[in-house]
Amino acid sequence: MTTTAHGGPGLPQERRLVTEIPGPKSREMFSRKQSAVPAGVGTTLPVFVTKAGGGVLVDADGNSLIDFGSGIAVTNVGNAAPKVVERVQNQVADFTHTCFMITPYESYVAVCEKLNAITPGDHEKRTFLVNSGAEAVENAVKVARLATGRPAVVAFDHGYHGRTLLTMTLTAKNMPYKQGFGPYAPEVYRMPLAYPYRWPGENVAEEAAAQAIDQITKQIGAENVAAVIIEPIAGEGGFIVPAKGFLPRIAEFCKANGIVFIADEIQTGFARTGQMFACEDEGIVPDIITTAKGIAGGLPLAAVTGRAELMDAVHAGGLGGTYGGNPVACEAALGVLETIEEEGLVERARAIGDVMLPRLRGLQERFGIIGDVRGRGAMTAIELVVPGTKDPNPAAASEIAKRCHAEGLVVLTAGTYGNVLRFLPPLVIPDHLLDEGLTILEKAVSEV
Ligand SMILES: *Cc1c(COP(=O)(O)O)cnc(C)c1O
Repeated sequence: MTTTAHGGPGLPQERRLVTEIPGPKSREMFSRKQSAVPAGVGTTLPVFVTKAGGGVLVDADGNSLIDFGSGIAVTNVGNAAPKVVERVQNQVADFTHTCFMITPYESYVAVCEKLNAITPGDHEKRTFLVNSGAEAVENAVKVARLATGRPAVVAFDHGYHGRTLLTMTLTAKNMPYKQGFGPYAPEVYRMPLAYPYRWPGENVAEEAAAQAIDQITKQIGAENVAAVIIEPIAGEGGFIVPAKGFLPRIAEFCKANGIVFIADEIQTGFARTGQMFACEDEGIVPDIITTAKGIAGGLPLAAVTGRAELMDAVHAGGLGGTYGGNPVACEAALGVLETIEEEGLVERARAIGDVMLPRLRGLQERFGIIGDVRGRGAMTAIELVVPGTKDPNPAAASEIAKRCHAEGLVVLTAGTYGNVLRFLPPLVIPDHLLDEGLTILEKAVSEV
């Protein structure tokens, strides 16, 4: 066995099972976890990771697992990507924190300049940095409310925006995100989403947009709406790609009514969908875009990027936070952006989709348990149903996931009904591991 001192792309790119999954060392650590960490912090697969890179995660027992999760769409450039490691190591040795609001540093500004340049639209933009996706969404709503002087925020069915009070309120699904954690924030309204597989009518985009606009107009009054927030592909909700035409129609309605259109690209951003941002697919130019996950290879960083006139409406001192835009995280982000560009990861995401989607559709043809196959680029999913119906089949999703895990393939579930398996490989995964992972999945589906 080849050994490497660290993780990163130099790790042997192979699936290797030397114990059952999880192995004895992981099981021992998991029992410590159960005594030390509340059960509310869940575990998808209790293998304790010691190294990761390329398309693999290596655990404490020496197993090497194929990664179809990327830590939930975070390690798009792979774990311990060389450009990220180098920049982070240098920065951590120079200084780790000053607080950007006290004494600034260049990397924060450089990340903001980059985001202003690469996000959709060539209008004048401003960006500021925070620590997590939820914090970015909270801040986007703060900016929209202040800039418009209006209270209401509109979110959509199947949406996920985080776990803080406001973002939990914006999130659609009750269990496990909201159950028992109320009361929720006021002035949040939910509209239907153009979910092609489950929309009852034929003209999904037109009908769903018309319903949403009618409800906004009748129930809230467009003049009271500060912002509409939507994921261009619903992530936790089950990788739902809204029917074509829906997003442009909603964006157009926002524009006509002075409503800030916020695209939550926290899961879809940074090359994941085969474009730098998923909004590009239909030429949507959001007024504000929130990013996080794929931005910094796993270091805690998130951003709010928006039209200069909206962002500059906020008074001095109205935005910020102690750690937001930490210098180590900013260096990681610069390393991520360089890696995406130099390794052509936007194109690579598209190529991954071109391999995965036909294989998944092939599975759907063979097995009635797969009701829908969807996604774009390296963000793909299958929706499991009771064969011959559209009834959600969460038991099948978890059984397939369990079998994949036992074979050393990390897959994640998702979906409002818990019946979706989602696939988010690191964009640097080698072809042979992508192929092997799909073969494991095909076997698991055929057995269930
Ligand atoms: C993960 C996610 C969030 C929340 O991000 P955190 O960093 O977990 O707070 C918000 N929106 C979307 C679309 C997400 O996928």
